[in-house]
Amino acid sequence: MQDAPVSAELFARAQTVTPGGVNSPVRAFRSVGGTPRFMVSGAGAYLTDADGNRYVDLVSSWGPMILGHAHPEVVAAVTRAAASGLSFGTPTSGEIELAETIIGRVGPVEQVRLVNSGTEATMSAIRLARGFTGRHRVVKFAGCYHGHVDALLAAAGSGVITLGLPDTPGVTGAQTAETIVLPYNDIEAVRACFAEFGAEIACLITEAAAGNMGAVAPLPGFNAALREITAAHGALLIMDEVMTGFRVSAAGWYGLDPVEADLFTFGKVMSGGLPAAAFGGRADIMARLAPMGPVYQAGTLSGNPVAVAAGLATLRAAGPDVYAALDANARTIGTLASDALTEAGVEHQLQYAGNLFSIFFAGAPVHDFAGAQAAATARYAPFFHSMLEAGVYLPPSAYEAWFVNAAMDDEAIGRIADALPAAARAAAAA
Ligand SMILES: *Cc1c(COP(=O)(O)O)cnc(C)c1O
Repeated sequence: MQDAPVSAELFARAQTVTPGGVNSPVRAFRSVGGTPRFMVSGAGAYLTDADGNRYVDLVSSWGPMILGHAHPEVVAAVTRAAASGLSFGTPTSGEIELAETIIGRVGPVEQVRLVNSGTEATMSAIRLARGFTGRHRVVKFAGCYHGHVDALLAAAGSGVITLGLPDTPGVTGAQTAETIVLPYNDIEAVRACFAEFGAEIACLITEAAAGNMGAVAPLPGFNAALREITAAHGALLIMDEVMTGFRVSAAGWYGLDPVEADLFTFGKVMSGGLPAAAFGGRADIMARLAPMGPVYQAGTLSGNPVAVAAGLATLRAAGPDVYAALDANARTIGTLASDALTEAGVEHQLQYAGNLFSIFFAGAPVHDFAGAQAAATARYAPFFHSMLEAGVYLPPSAYEAWFVNAAMDDEAIGRIADALPAAARAAAAA
């Protein structure tokens, strides 16, 4: 059993100065209960908390750390960049190299612009799509998360095709009124929506494979059908690869399911763990951005040299061996977890989207948000805490994918295997 008195003390202090004690809500353990662990260091597959407990990390900073923590080549690149100055507010050559690397990996991307977060990437891509098409409506899918962009924090109304309703106080009806929310993996709903609103739709944005309601891959042909329908109506297709990009393959989801979207958004892995993200795509569309075109978009720290160095070093180190290790680790760990749950008699679905995976406590495969919400999430908290006490750090929410990294070796996987039977029994008892 791992105790966390120092984390508890830090959490109490943090709560007095920061809402909920955290700078991003899911870190607060609200959906699993208990004390969030304050981490002090990471190395390879492991994190160490403020009490000195070590965990095998299956969150990987929510995706970026595909090489594991404190990878020597990334740390060296960041150290070199930092020693040369932290920010200039001018162009730097590293930005060209990072753009060239992204363009070299993802075929349809002809130009990119660097930003600071995935949220900024999707926000900017949508603005650009509206500016390029001169249209106002945006289509998204329920359960797909694209960052906390006002217009995308929309929930579906009661009908199949309804105008978005704000998902949170602080977002107005006006901000979501031009957002249409459809059920994921429902191509007929997309067809019906475009039949009715097609001429007003600037873009459809989708996660290349949904990873923010648990791992829910697009059904075969779904993304290709989105391409066909959007093109037929003169709307842009935006593939949000912030989570999948450069993780599920060298070219992200595009490498597994090569659908030629007009715009792509990237973040997480390409940041190397520092704040960096990007959007990019067809050169004729990107040419509408300031200073070339009239669509305004900017950032004081965009293309920051230290963040760019981290992203470049990460992508350079992420060769075929890294992707093979990510795939193998995802298969091994997913199978271990599923076997332990089966052994304990817990009904579940092990679902993959490339090497992203998650477990739904459900009786049938989950293809959309309604299915994800119908799963027995009450089993997750005891499962999570049992794993945590045994030194395995899982995402503190039933709706998140598990993120492996390439640094997980036999020892790390052995620790996961050892922890699973008791966790599966805890889930069974819930
Ligand atoms: C994480 C994520 C975002 C938002 O990125 P931030 O850097 O957290 O703003 C957008 N889209 C997808 C698919 C994501 O997973």
